[in-house]
Amino acid sequence: MGFATDCIHAGQEPDPSTGAIVTPIFQTSTYVQQGIGQHKGYEYARTQNPTRRALEKNLAALERGTDAYCYASGMAATNAVMSLIKPGQRVVVSDNVYGGTHRLFTKILAQYGVEFAFLDASDAGAFDKAAGEFAMLWIETPTNPLMKICDVAALAQAAHRRRALLVVDNTFMSPFFQRPLELGADIVVHSTTKFLNGHSDSVGGVAVVKDKGHAQWLQYYQNAAGAILSPFDSWLVLRGTKTLAVRMPRHEENGRRVATFLREHKKVKRVYWPGFTDHPGHDVHKLQSSGFGAMISFDLGAREAADRLLPALKLCSLGESLGGVETLISHPATMTHAGYTQPERDALGIGNGLVRISVGIEDSEDLVADLTRGLDAI
Ligand SMILES: *Cc1c(COP(=O)(O)O)cnc(C)c1O
Repeated sequence: MGFATDCIHAGQEPDPSTGAIVTPIFQTSTYVQQGIGQHKGYEYARTQNPTRRALEKNLAALERGTDAYCYASGMAATNAVMSLIKPGQRVVVSDNVYGGTHRLFTKILAQYGVEFAFLDASDAGAFDKAAGEFAMLWIETPTNPLMKICDVAALAQAAHRRRALLVVDNTFMSPFFQRPLELGADIVVHSTTKFLNGHSDSVGGVAVVKDKGHAQWLQYYQNAAGAILSPFDSWLVLRGTKTLAVRMPRHEENGRRVATFLREHKKVKRVYWPGFTDHPGHDVHKLQSSGFGAMISFDLGAREAADRLLPALKLCSLGESLGGVETLISHPATMTHAGYTQPERDALGIGNGLVRISVGIEDSEDLVADLTRGLDAI
C-alpha cells in the first residue's frame, strides 16, 4: 500500500465486536480468561493492549520495519533501545543530539559502565577513521538544533563493518520524509510526542526494528521495565498518524516560507535549514529524504536579542517541544540543551542567541507577520 493509505489503515481493522471503524481505547487493566491458561492472547495490560498494539503495527508499517514497541515517552523508548547494550561496551553518538538523550547517556547509563563518545558524524569518511571500535552508533539527522546532516547509508556501513548497530532518532523528519531502516539503519526511535502525534496533546515514544531478535527483546523489556504507552495516548497517536501525509507537506511549505523570510532579514545572522542549497549536507539530505521539514534554527547573535524577540511574538508560542500543528519557538541554550555545560554548548556552536522554531500549519502569511513584528522589537 502507499504511504498515505498505511497512515490511515495499517495495523487497524474495524473492531470485531461492534464494527467500530476506529480502534477503541481498551481502557482495561486485565482480561477475563476462559480457564487456566486459556485466553485470547491478552493477560494483563502492561504486557498486551490492543490499542497500543494497533499503533505499534501502524508505526512499524510507516517506518517499513518488521515490528515496533511503544513506550511512555521518547526517552523511555531510547532507554529501552539502550538495554541492548551491556556494561563495558562503547556507544558512539553524533554530537548535538537532543539534550535529554545526552543527559540519559552521560548521567544515567554511564553509571552502569557503558562508555559514551560524542563525535561529529556529518563527514562519514572522517568519522569512520576517527571513531574506533563501538557496539552502537546513535545518530540524529538533521541534528538538534544545528541541523547537521549525517549520511545514514554510509554510517550504516561503518557500523556494520564493526558488527555494531546503527540507531537513528528520526523524530525531526518523521517517516513521511525519511525512512532510515530502508537506508540500512537497524533501529529507528521517535518521540511520538512530536510530528507523529502532531497535535501537542500526548507524550510517547516508539522503537521500530528490523531484526526479530531485537523485536523480542524490546517487547520483553517493555513488559519487564513497564514504561508502556497508555491506551489513551496510543489512541491519540493513532489518530495523529492518520493525517501525517497531509500535515507534513504543509509543515514543509510553511518551513520553506519562514526559513526564506528569516534568511532575508537583516537582524538574523544565520539560518540553519537543510532545504537551503548551501546548507552543509544539503545534497546528502536530498538523496536520503524526500523533504526538508519544518525545523529551523536561527542565530540572533546575542542572548539579549532572543530575550526581546521571544516575548514579542503573539502567534509563535514560546515552549519546549516541536512537531505540533501550532508553531512553537524555543531557546536551545536554556531549554532543550540546558543539560549541556556552557563550554560543551560553545564547542558545538549552540550560542545564546540561537533560536529554534518548529513551524506549524497555520497560514504562513500570519507567521511571517508575527516574526516581522517580533524582529522589529529587537
Ligand atoms: C523530544 C525529543 C526526544 C524525547 O522525547 P520525549 O517524548 O520528550 O521523551 C528525543 N529525541 C528528539 C529528537 C526529540 O525532539
